[in-house]
Amino acid sequence: MTDLSTRHPNPAVNLLAFTEPQMTRFVQTQRWPAYRAKQILRWLHQRRIRTITDMTDLSMHDRLILSRSAFIGRSADVTVFRSQDGTRKFLLKLDDDMTIESVLIPDEDRLTLCVSTQVGCMLDCGFCLTGQMGLKRNLKLNEIMDQVLTAQDLLTPEERMTNLVFMGMGEPLANLDVLKAAVAAITNSPWGLGWSRRRITVSTAGLASRLSEVAAMGVNLAISLNATTEEQRRELMPAAAEIASLKSLLAACRRYPLPPHRRLTFEYVLLAGVNDHPTDARRLVQLLRPIQCKVNLIPFNEFPGSRFRRPSEHDVLRFQSALRNAGLDAFVRKSRGRDVFGACGQLGEISGDRSPITLTAIETRC
Ligand code: SF4
Repeated sequence: MTDLSTRHPNPAVNLLAFTEPQMTRFVQTQRWPAYRAKQILRWLHQRRIRTITDMTDLSMHDRLILSRSAFIGRSADVTVFRSQDGTRKFLLKLDDDMTIESVLIPDEDRLTLCVSTQVGCMLDCGFCLTGQMGLKRNLKLNEIMDQVLTAQDLLTPEERMTNLVFMGMGEPLANLDVLKAAVAAITNSPWGLGWSRRRITVSTAGLASRLSEVAAMGVNLAISLNATTEEQRRELMPAAAEIASLKSLLAACRRYPLPPHRRLTFEYVLLAGVNDHPTDARRLVQLLRPIQCKVNLIPFNEFPGSRFRRPSEHDVLRFQSALRNAGLDAFVRKSRGRDVFGACGQLGEISGDRSPITLTAIETRC
């Protein structure tokens, strides 16, 4: 049989970039029965195949026809960095030789995958390495799904991913249509991964006008806040502050149609001497009191060239206590994967100094 490699030399049809309606139309153009759309989608998402050859419930003839016009857009070039704390950072090389990163983070009984939605980022949050790259481009559907499927491929038989957060490189709400398509594939039961929407979180730096789109997706919403005054936010997150002021962002959060028993998450990166003072904590309490929410405090993860410093543990706990004493649920996020630059805010153009494991074939497990 013809060897169907993962990478296709021609600008043929990329099956993994198709939504269900697109796959349905494609199947119609082939004059195949309608059920074949879901059949192909199942192969791609549930069975995670990389070659059309493996679609063994299609006839040999149909597989050959399909292979002449289509391919499966998975990256064959995946490098895995393993942190001492068990965190794994994946570098996936894209067709245009750019790379994206995703991170698998173990924490007690949870295993969370942090997924990227853009190469680089259009925003320029001063405490984030990705922001320093600028925006190279949006990811396509197959490139987002490739991160999820690759992480699944690399799990040991005992492991199971419990949560998925769109908090990797990029601003997810700036790539909204593709984000929606990815959530649809991850949550679809007949042909997708069948995840509950409650296990998925979308994090935004504050695209206030698009929060209702997250509500419509039925997933959790996290807001990267990091500041308690307009001036501080302009200083720390100038591009995000330009898009929406702190006041309008919080107004959008207050209007957010939360389902019963759900709450918003506010992420707050603690920067020593910048936003970690008790006065900041008091202002944060005032701002968030009217909102059903919890706060994740993230002690800044340093990277070379950054002008910010990580606060002392004492200052982090003092900040947390101030929030808790005022009745806000506040948690300190453990920093995971710092030694491989896989921690929050560290995804970008620096790779860890630990030896990577390069996977030349996906059958290889790290
Ligand atoms: S924190 Fe998020 S939104 Fe801000 S620059 Fe980094 S990736 Fe972009």
